[in-house]
Amino acid sequence: MIEGMSGDNKQIVVVATRNMGKVREFRHALAPFGKEVHSLHEYPDAPEVVEDGSTFSENAFKKAKEIGDFLNLPVLADDSGLCVDLLDDAPGIYSARYAGEHGDDSANNAKLLNELMRLRQGDDTEQPLLSAARFVCALVLYDPATGRSLESEGEVEGWITSETAGAGGFGYDPLFYVPQFERTMAELSVEEKQSISHRGAALTRLIAKLH
Ligand code: IMP
Repeated sequence: MIEGMSGDNKQIVVVATRNMGKVREFRHALAPFGKEVHSLHEYPDAPEVVEDGSTFSENAFKKAKEIGDFLNLPVLADDSGLCVDLLDDAPGIYSARYAGEHGDDSANNAKLLNELMRLRQGDDTEQPLLSAARFVCALVLYDPATGRSLESEGEVEGWITSETAGAGGFGYDPLFYVPQFERTMAELSVEEKQSISHRGAALTRLIAKLH
């Protein structure tokens, strides 16, 4: 059993991210477990993990293991991104640094629209091509006390809109249209996003494996 999230004792689970959008979503999702959710903001000395894996799950495992071993605490790591059909699944594992600088959400969104615009190849429509897309999230929960880990993955399908809408969420949320809600991900409440998101689905699967 992974001790970090099971059992009744109030224990710390460190979410291996500095991304405040992810931290907000994890805090919300893990609140019912009564665990103390920390992020890397509380551990400024934690190593900067090089995300050089070739899949979301390889990167998530690397983050969970390196940070868990360093902190000697159970760590939940997420590696996630956006895969766009017409761009051959780009930006994929490079989502955070698509436009160059790590985590520059507005530059990443502008680049995404630009790439879909370029696919027009000279026709005189002023709008980017409409493409189906999906968010993918791989989660790994690693406990250095036992050396054991649990993994899960989740996805959500939608469409890339031609202009941003909404101020919630983070990353590509303002461009990701969710047909079920007829709004972009950035126009959803945290609860609504959690109910359909890649991260929400991966967390539900991971939690099911704890029992
Ligand atoms: P990571 O921190 O290396 O996993 O990079 C994740 C990147 O993927 C983020 O910086 C966002 O650009 C994108 N991403 C992942 N999950 C989401 C989401 O829920 N909404 C919007 N963008 C996301």
